[in-house]
Amino acid sequence: MSEMARLERRAVVIGASMAGLLAARTLADHYDRVTLVDRDEMPALPVNRGGVPQGRHVHGLLSSGLAVVERMFPGTTDDLVARGAQLGDAQQDARYYFGPDPLAAGRADLPALGVSRPLLEWYVRRRLLSPSVTVQEHTSVLDLAFTADERRVDGVIVTDRDSGTPHLLPAHLVVDASGRTSRTPEWLERRGYLAPHEDVRRIDKRYATRTFRHPRGADEPVVTAVPASPVLPRGGLAIAHEDDVLMTCLVGRDGERPPLELEAYRAWARTLASPVLADLLDGLVPLDEGLAYRFPANRRRHYEQLTRFPRGLVVTGDALCAFDPVYGQGMSVAALEAELLGRCLAEGVTGLARRFHEGAAAIIDTPWAIAAGPTPDRRPSLRARLASGYLRRLVGAAAHDRELATAFLRVNHLVDAPADLQRPRVVLRVLRSVVRGPAAGGRDSDRSRSPEPVGSGSG
Ligand SMILES: Cc1cc2nc3c(=O)[nH]c(=O)nc-3n(C[C@H](O)[C@H](O)[C@H](O)COP(=O)(O)OP(=O)(O)OC[C@H]3O[C@@H](n4cnc5c(N)ncnc54)[C@H](O)[C@@H]3O)c2cc1C
Repeated sequence: MSEMARLERRAVVIGASMAGLLAARTLADHYDRVTLVDRDEMPALPVNRGGVPQGRHVHGLLSSGLAVVERMFPGTTDDLVARGAQLGDAQQDARYYFGPDPLAAGRADLPALGVSRPLLEWYVRRRLLSPSVTVQEHTSVLDLAFTADERRVDGVIVTDRDSGTPHLLPAHLVVDASGRTSRTPEWLERRGYLAPHEDVRRIDKRYATRTFRHPRGADEPVVTAVPASPVLPRGGLAIAHEDDVLMTCLVGRDGERPPLELEAYRAWARTLASPVLADLLDGLVPLDEGLAYRFPANRRRHYEQLTRFPRGLVVTGDALCAFDPVYGQGMSVAALEAELLGRCLAEGVTGLARRFHEGAAAIIDTPWAIAAGPTPDRRPSLRARLASGYLRRLVGAAAHDRELATAFLRVNHLVDAPADLQRPRVVLRVLRSVVRGPAAGGRDSDRSRSPEPVGSGSG
């Protein structure tokens, strides 16, 4: 390393997808040089790329995530709207059907932005990159580099498409944002560290995605969702995007496989808890042949539980926890983690990994509980059963009580904590709706299905 490079404080980020980009934004405030390393070429235009196959599927950004992106890159919402993204209120301009009736209309004062994943990622990348924050494209990380005593990570071993020769990229801090297939557990084990405990919850969800030409009408929602439930394991979602595109997906769980073929797709949409999606699709012109995706499992890696961990390394984004996409949480959790990284770095680098992974675990707890639910092999406790029954009542009541609908959506957008649903005012409204019965709102609460809470997602 040259004298200059030795003096310079450098951070390397493995993976230039959403988690990597947002972490890099934070790192730029603390390091002289930030290098993102990615196998892919970064497209000059907002188009899909191979390293992010999920980008071809519906991607909603929760209000909590959008707020972080906006804090990091002020003006994002306006810029994206100027490029055609669809902006609305997460309650007023969204329709969530847990039964025949949608959640009650009202203003949550949470923005819902309909934007495609390629446009969002391209925009963030363009705002981020500078002479001191760069992406090394066509470059794969093969391993972590360690100091001789193997107690500190001091870079990554990379190989690029042109040279093909492994070489060291030195760094004072390495951030693993390489997604679900992160190899950090394996790299740690090779150096005698323990791999983190992995909590894997099999869900075997099947997605079928199709896009349609549909200019959004003035009074049409940005998001329409018909979530699945244990009673009816079929769901669907539509989000209005830039370029007059309506991106839709059908989701099957418990062995249900949504079809791709257009007529079968429309027919399957009609079998959901509400015909609203099928009605929306009627007569629309498809823009593609559709694409399937299988999401086998929620996967959480408990780095915060490790008692021995090398200095100079933290793990973020899907590499830390990959959620059932139906809840639209991954990018927002990555954004919250990126802000957390900034707070941790502001307190110095001593114990950085421990502080960051513990903080990230606290961020992940709520979305994980939403996406993965209770531990499957244990009989739910009385408390858990009461909580689940209460939530079912709350969602049933939220079809005719706008305040309850707002409270529910604020939790699902990771803005409020689940405990906020147990505030006396909320509990009273739920009780009142139970006492008054379905007449108050036109939806029979006994028919209301065990809810899969929603963000921008559905399923
Ligand atoms: C079908 C589907 C739908 C989804 N929908 C939503 C949604 O609606 N809302 C939402 O918030 N989230 C959604 N997600 C999740 C979201 O895509 C991720 O949470 C988000 O992209 C953040 O992931 P990440 O950046 O950690 O990893 P990824 O997006 O997986 O990116 C990893 C990056 O690392 C690079 N890489 C990996 N290994 C290496 C290596 N060894 N060397 C160099 N480069 C490497 C890859 O090329 C890639 O660019 C969805 C996911 C799926 C699968």
